[in-house]
Amino acid sequence: MTLQDIKKIKQLLATPKHIVIVPHKNPDGDAIGSTLGLYHYLLKHNHNVTVIAPNDYPSFLKWIPGENTILKYDSQTNDCNDLIEKADIIFTLDFNALHRTGNMEAVLEQSEAIKILIDHHQEPDSYAKYVFSDVSMSSTCQMVYHFIEMLGDLDKIDANIATCLYVGIMTDTGSFRFSSTSSTTHRIIADLIEKGANHTNIHNSVYDTNSYERLQLLGCALNNLKVIPELRTAYIYLTQDELNKYNFRKGDTEGVVNYGLSLDNIVLAAIFIEDKQEGIIKISLRSKGNFSVNDFARAHFNGGGHINAAGGRSDLSLNDTIKKFISILPSYSKALNDE
Ligand code: 5GP
Ligand code: MN
Repeated sequence: MTLQDIKKIKQLLATPKHIVIVPHKNPDGDAIGSTLGLYHYLLKHNHNVTVIAPNDYPSFLKWIPGENTILKYDSQTNDCNDLIEKADIIFTLDFNALHRTGNMEAVLEQSEAIKILIDHHQEPDSYAKYVFSDVSMSSTCQMVYHFIEMLGDLDKIDANIATCLYVGIMTDTGSFRFSSTSSTTHRIIADLIEKGANHTNIHNSVYDTNSYERLQLLGCALNNLKVIPELRTAYIYLTQDELNKYNFRKGDTEGVVNYGLSLDNIVLAAIFIEDKQEGIIKISLRSKGNFSVNDFARAHFNGGGHINAAGGRSDLSLNDTIKKFISILPSYSKALNDE
């Protein structure tokens, strides 16, 4: 994003506009935190602002300030289409290609609103007039902070905005431990705390609201953990029956893939989750060092993401998906063992 772009966006935002903000499908902490952080900021400039999520999100995000105003495209389609049609500006946050919004793809593509992309995923598509893309950033929430900074408005960040942005930086950095966490990230976090983010409450609200069944499901997942030591790989699977048995709720499997990566000497971890309703296997991949799960997911599982965290999907059965995964790995033997 150039200085010229910022100047133009500043002019654009100088008078009240109809604005829609969109996160990716199955929004996570960074997607909800960044869209709501930007929402509160734009409200302060007297815009008419709505966050439209493609679908629902986990209950551990259902306390973030402004969360109750979010519309869900899959259940409120007509209202959402009206707002998108009326929009002067559409911000798309925390994703790099319109298909990541699922059923919203076509209506977003057709919209003539000025689109502004803010995102930290690799290889952004070129659908937006203004693009703020930086793959080195810890999170889209950090980028929204920098966006507000570039607009010269850091003093407008209040406790609500600070809380929203804290959530996404915390969740996308694994609580400030992934390598994308920089000294700047920590300075921003310090500023957000000074501006009113309550880090203890935020941490408790996101991480310490487990149900008993979620922990039982985690136990089941850990029982299904397999290790391939010679390829420094660990993987977990969950069948639809297992998910049903423990009354699976959206978000219950978030973070489970990281247990594989916590094993000594493991550099690649995967989780395969059967979704009978969508007829797919959802795959999450995590890695350490230079092994790019973004490349791996793009090459084999119709997905993408970041170097150390990516996702994808498979139309094969759970068994066949795992077989495919295991059969591909030997061709990465050198890369995995060089780490
Ligand atoms: P997760 O495994 O937590 O679902 O996702 C890890 C990262 O990969 C996130 O940044 C997410 O946005 C991205 N990601 C997950 N699934 C997909 C996918 O199917 N396609 C693409 N391009 N990215 C994905
Ligand atoms: Mn993110």
